[in-house]
Amino acid sequence: MPTGSFKPSPGHLVGPASPFGPARPEHDWMDRGACTKPGVDPDWFVADETDTAAIANAKAVCRACDVRLRCRIWAYETNEWGVYAGETYSERTAKLDRRHQMFREEVAR
Ligand code: SF4
Repeated sequence: MPTGSFKPSPGHLVGPASPFGPARPEHDWMDRGACTKPGVDPDWFVADETDTAAIANAKAVCRACDVRLRCRIWAYETNEWGVYAGETYSERTAKLDRRHQMFREEVAR
């Protein structure tokens, strides 16, 4: 679920509203995302997850993205709200929860 009123999108991350400040070299890959190309609506990536049409559009853009792997790594590091690398926040969070549960079980042995 969104945290606070800020809903980042890949396009916003490289713009002035970036939570990281001005674009930094380690985030240059964001400039190459298919989501930054003309004709792509940034709102698709931060749509409510019940908006299946918007989510499907975002995922289709991600499928054709050259920086998808780097984006997925970033998405799992930050788990920001939105579609990144073809996964919604809920899909990513479910995977992270399963991974954390596995670690807890491993440590408890
Ligand atoms: S994988 Fe998707 S969200 Fe990530 S940079 Fe590419 S198009 Fe944007």
